[in-house]
Amino acid sequence: MTDPKIIECDLLVIGTGMAGSAAALFAANRGVSVVQVGIISEIIFASGLLDLMGVHPIQKQRIWDNPWAAIDTVSKDIPGHPYAKLNEKDIRNAFAETLSFFTSAGIRYSSYKNRNVRVLTPVGTIKPTYCVPHTMWAGVKALEDQQPCLIVDIHGLKGFNARQITVMVKQYWPGIHSASIAFPDTGHLSEVYPEQMARALELASNREKLAKVIRPFVKDYHVVGVPAILGLYHTQDILNDLQEKIGVPIFEIPTMPPSVTGLRIKEAFEKYLPKIGVRLFTQKRVLDVDTIDSGKRFVSKVGDDKIHFKVLAQGIILASGRFIGKGLHADRKQIHETIFDLPVYQTGDRSRWHLKDFLDSRGHPINRAGLETDHLFRPFDRSGHPAFQRLFAIGSILAHQDWIRMKCGSGLAIATAYKAVNAFIDMIDAQ
Ligand SMILES: Cc1cc2nc3c(=O)[nH]c(=O)nc-3n(C[C@H](O)[C@H](O)[C@H](O)COP(=O)(O)OP(=O)(O)OC[C@H]3O[C@@H](n4cnc5c(N)ncnc54)[C@H](O)[C@@H]3O)c2cc1C
Repeated sequence: MTDPKIIECDLLVIGTGMAGSAAALFAANRGVSVVQVGIISEIIFASGLLDLMGVHPIQKQRIWDNPWAAIDTVSKDIPGHPYAKLNEKDIRNAFAETLSFFTSAGIRYSSYKNRNVRVLTPVGTIKPTYCVPHTMWAGVKALEDQQPCLIVDIHGLKGFNARQITVMVKQYWPGIHSASIAFPDTGHLSEVYPEQMARALELASNREKLAKVIRPFVKDYHVVGVPAILGLYHTQDILNDLQEKIGVPIFEIPTMPPSVTGLRIKEAFEKYLPKIGVRLFTQKRVLDVDTIDSGKRFVSKVGDDKIHFKVLAQGIILASGRFIGKGLHADRKQIHETIFDLPVYQTGDRSRWHLKDFLDSRGHPINRAGLETDHLFRPFDRSGHPAFQRLFAIGSILAHQDWIRMKCGSGLAIATAYKAVNAFIDMIDAQ
């Protein structure tokens, strides 16, 4: 049997979620040779919204208008929180570089500089977030300005009911109403899917048909909200075309996962990261990592049920996520980190991972379990020192944060990636 081939690079990024992809982007932009490995499927569950910091303290459900003020407060209140290791300038730069990548990949984002925005969710709640795909911006403005608005749902689309949305938000937005339509040529189907409709809308003839169905409902409404189905590749053109045909601004509302907004991000990373030099291996996992040269270089085995190749790298960025991503695994007694067996911060045994009430406003301790690191995001070993000189951990695998409840998932992923990549480069330059 021949030995698996060896790929050499400066940096191996483990993970193809938001954190790993941002790290690969920053590294490639700085001329670092990068190999990125991971199963890219999780990202299709993402809403496309880029949260920075929205809720703190969780138990008081305090919603912040200014995410930067929220980050300052979180950093003081929770010294172990990843944001406590970052400064505002780095976070802003990290966002700017990521948004510039998305723009060049055809996904335009909109935001205020110092203010969170509020968006409608498919269950009719209003969620604070920082950056929204531009296709959602007219909805942000319409809610702020209380414009007369029509929400349209589609027969057979599960998890998106315009009537339910409007009933839920009517108290904050009295001028909102609902309508239900059949998506063109799907009247015979009992179920329709966002991806199917998004692909159909890439064709001008289907947009013409959809506009014809929606137009009679528009009447005096100033703006129309639809589920996020406005194409996969030419979303902005599709939005503009439909607006022209309908005669009023349109906005997208995120749908339940798997979503078209997540798919757009997946396609953008898959298509454009390799164009800037990232050697991207999707549908593969890092099976095992050894070190050589006294821990200064890593040899990682990559494959699926067998080893396909090895990666020889001077540094590793671990962006393997939590339980869904499979960066963490819980057995009956303990939570483990799955690749390096790094110590995981956790509250006692299994009986203390969850509070009794599933909806407890404090959030469950298990959601704050994860890796503890130094100020450069190097995870600790059992003696409390960086486990390796050039191993970094970023994104949702980090301890002392509950990104879902604090509304800080993408912000943490992007900002920690930025700091870790720059720290890696400084170390290599200092050699
Ligand atoms: C349902 C859902 C809704 C979301 N909504 C929002 C939202 O509204 N706003 C927002 O800001 N963000 C949202 N997000 C995105 C979320 O913020 C990010 O997914 C989160 O920050 C975690 O990113 P991550 O990259 O750290 O981990 P993950 O996205 O979990 O990625 C982990 C990656 O590591 C890989 N991996 C694990 N083990 C290995 C291994 N051994 N070898 C190779 N690869 C490995 C996995 O395959 C995966 O690619 C949502 C995500 C989900 C799932």
